[in-house]
Amino acid sequence: MQLSDKIKHTIRDVHDYPKPGIIFKDITPVLSDPVLMHEIAGQLKQDFQGQKLDAIAAVEARGFIFGSILAHELGCRFIPIRKAGKLPYKVRRKEYDLEYGTACIEVHEDAIQSGWRVLVQDDLLATGGTAGAAAALIESFGATVAGFSFIINLSFLPGYSLLKERFGVDPHFLTEY
Ligand code: 5GP
Repeated sequence: MQLSDKIKHTIRDVHDYPKPGIIFKDITPVLSDPVLMHEIAGQLKQDFQGQKLDAIAAVEARGFIFGSILAHELGCRFIPIRKAGKLPYKVRRKEYDLEYGTACIEVHEDAIQSGWRVLVQDDLLATGGTAGAAAALIESFGATVAGFSFIINLSFLPGYSLLKERFGVDPHFLTEY
């Protein structure tokens, strides 16, 4: 079976989470399958090795899991981007729109240097709001968004085309719905 199908077979659909009408893609069964996680790590390494990357950035919490695996595989630094109020040192922040209301993410002000090429990693791409905000934060340091990497793309939502248009790169993903 192809890796894409293995991931799909393992993901659990949770109906009406976090609110009625939503089908949430639960990746925790993927995390509890070490053989599949090993294959995911190997695929990500193969897909990104050889690219000039200075850092992998990821948004908590599920982005941290795959982002740190990829950073480790590539021998690259890892930059944590967190929800407001979680990072201990001085931060730079970015507000972004959610379906209802706004959210805010932060990164340490000394975490990114001008001229760096940074890859954004997350578990899932939906509207692109989260990854787009992370990328805008990265650009605000004078760094380049080298790409986006997701385990899952929800291709019935506009995230993929939004990120491609705004940042000029094709988001990478391992499986899609
Ligand atoms: P977006 O900002 O693209 O609309 O939503 C993607 C973000 O929300 C990601 O950080 C992702 O972790 C989270 N997310 C939204 N829907 C789901 C889902 O169905 N499953 C998982 N695992 N994460 C989701």
